[in-house]
Amino acid sequence: MPTESHNAETIVLHAGSYRADPATNAVAVPIYQTTSYQFNSAEHAGNLFALKELGNIYTRIMNPTQAVLEERVAALEGGVAALALASGQAASLFAVQNICHAGDNFVCSTDIYGGTWNLFQNTLSTMGIECRFVDPADPENFRRATDARTKCYYGETLPNPKLAVFPIGEVAKIGEQLGVPLIMDNTACPVLCRPIQHGAAITMHSTTKYIGGHGTSIGGIIVDGGKFDWEKHADRFPMLNKPDPSYHGAVWTQAVKPLGPIAYILKARVTLLRDVGAAMSPFNAFMFIQGLETLALRMRQHCANAIAVADYLSNHAKVEKVIFPSKMSGEAKRRAEAYLKGGYGSLLGCELKGGRDSGRKFIDALKMFYHVANIGDARSLAIHPATTTHSQLTPEEQLQTGVTEGYVRLSVGIEHIDDIIADLGQALAKT
Ligand code: PLP
Repeated sequence: MPTESHNAETIVLHAGSYRADPATNAVAVPIYQTTSYQFNSAEHAGNLFALKELGNIYTRIMNPTQAVLEERVAALEGGVAALALASGQAASLFAVQNICHAGDNFVCSTDIYGGTWNLFQNTLSTMGIECRFVDPADPENFRRATDARTKCYYGETLPNPKLAVFPIGEVAKIGEQLGVPLIMDNTACPVLCRPIQHGAAITMHSTTKYIGGHGTSIGGIIVDGGKFDWEKHADRFPMLNKPDPSYHGAVWTQAVKPLGPIAYILKARVTLLRDVGAAMSPFNAFMFIQGLETLALRMRQHCANAIAVADYLSNHAKVEKVIFPSKMSGEAKRRAEAYLKGGYGSLLGCELKGGRDSGRKFIDALKMFYHVANIGDARSLAIHPATTTHSQLTPEEQLQTGVTEGYVRLSVGIEHIDDIIADLGQALAKT
């Protein structure tokens, strides 16, 4: 069914091999709530374990409900295959750890989600993997930080709180010259941006956000673009080109030859997921399939509402500054126009004239907006990052990521725009 050549609205409903449940003809994707799958024969079992054919073995490693989600998100992103995981954090970790070992390094944008920052800066360093943070405003910073042990570049398409779109094509090009793949966290921009089209090798999402949209389930997904030539850069990627002792000596770039350009994502599934076990539950995969079906429609409404909110706040006497791609100028605006299509996402920052005090009063006065540590929900959400999501960072680190004392982050929902603006207006009146 539809793949890359179709529009996002169609892909999210139809892409992939699932048409109806082969056992019952059910149209809705069943929740295959099973741990295991019966093998047809000893030969079939042997073939599955030897990766001579792909099929279900055990739900820690694969599941038919997950598979439908994976095929649809892979098609939406323009990739060849995907791996669903228990959370966005697991997806970020796996995306890097799949190709970085102790003694290696990777170069990462300073503009990333606070949780990812902690994972990369603190947890990965305890495993001997060094994260080199660089300012993405100058893409050449990625080249300068690269050496023979650099295994990937990492950025977020639309990182909050700065909301300055990442130079995807520019950094991907540097990576192409040096043999370093770019991994993009595209959580904030599904449908609006397809980083693989701009040269990224891998993308990932926290499906917890827009892909779900319902705010009921935690999940993550990694998509393999299938274009990065791991064999050409065999010296940099021994883990994909030398026998893997954890899988009876499989050489991943060779083992997948009959299956397609899926060395990266297959290795992540059958080694990292097998060992770490951060699997997405079949029920959550089902929930994300429900969310995915309306994703393109929701993104359209999120974007239209956010543009209207940015205009409203920009003209409000109590607002010092609105941080939103359409309100930027110069290179930041150019990147937003180049990489986002159909809108600027629904994340928006605003600094109130009264600073920290006003920011807190504003949050407390909101009636319809939920005060939560989340983004991408269908409902409108607000938070004060300095005292919540970014509070585990040092003050210097906070400033580096763009969090000032008075910054309030909004994730504009899909409610009627008049109701959104009415709530913001009454809350601003109380600051
Ligand atoms: N990436 C981004 C951009 C996020 O905003 C988040 C969570 O807020 C994550 C990754 C982590 O996702 P999860 O909360 O699903 O683990």
